[in-house]
Amino acid sequence: MTTAPTSALAVTGLNKAFGGVQAVRDVTFALAPGELLALIGPNGAGKSTCFNMLNGQLPPDEGSIKLYGHEIIGLKPRQVWRLGVGRTFQITATFQSMSVIENVQMALISHHRRLLSMLPFAGALYKDEAFALLDLVSMGAQAGRPCGMLAYGDLKRLELAVALANDPKVLLMDEPTAGMAPKERIELMQLTADIVGQRGISVLFTEHDMDVVFAHAGRVMVLNRGRLIAEGTPAQIRANAEVQAIYLGSGAVYKTDEDTAAGAAP
Ligand code: ADP
Ligand code: MG
Repeated sequence: MTTAPTSALAVTGLNKAFGGVQAVRDVTFALAPGELLALIGPNGAGKSTCFNMLNGQLPPDEGSIKLYGHEIIGLKPRQVWRLGVGRTFQITATFQSMSVIENVQMALISHHRRLLSMLPFAGALYKDEAFALLDLVSMGAQAGRPCGMLAYGDLKRLELAVALANDPKVLLMDEPTAGMAPKERIELMQLTADIVGQRGISVLFTEHDMDVVFAHAGRVMVLNRGRLIAEGTPAQIRANAEVQAIYLGSGAVYKTDEDTAAGAAP
């Protein structure tokens, strides 16, 4: 092969300051098609700021973000979403009063740009497609339940189905497993990895549970004080002295006995 395939995302020289705080400094990386890439770093490292720039919520001070070769800086979040950059668990807030299946149908209606005047007929629209997505995340049996009654882990899986309804090329997942028990975290990330693998979706995710990162990421990048300081396979990152130093005391890379004993407490 002579030419590299186009990156799903190609980020170059991204910078963002808030007043005197340089939240993101000269961040450059590429997300390959179908890749599951983790962005880790201590609290305040700039992870969410990066995500907010990638999905158009926050204008960078400098830099370039290309989605399959097309510059997306300057586009509104809605436009970036339309181009296929999905963001789970944040913008996909579910409608509590609606049922599980209605939430997925709403997302499909939006994706297919059906008019809101269709709402009185929404009950029948995209029902099969919505069921198929719910089955994919093992939520088919709960299709008729109001979202307000769902357990937390089920809500997360529903939100994944809602994100998939937009047929994303790239999924940004900012701490998708926050607040979940360790076993549930691993299950949700395994489910995500299976689905995105089947569909060829590229994923960039942040995660503070290193078990989840090392088990599921194909590659890991480390952000510290706004700057990318390391990048590599999970094994390389685990063995990286600088990364270990940053996490020392937080128990994040190597869990202490105390963390293990603390277990699921969110
Ligand atoms: P992370 O997600 O890695 O925990 P953030 O991106 O949320 O980090 O924050 C990076 C830095 O930018 C922090 O110092 C934070 O206080 C600051 N910051 C983030 N968002 C804002 C904002 N909207 N206004 C001012 N400062 C912000
Ligand atoms: Mg954050």
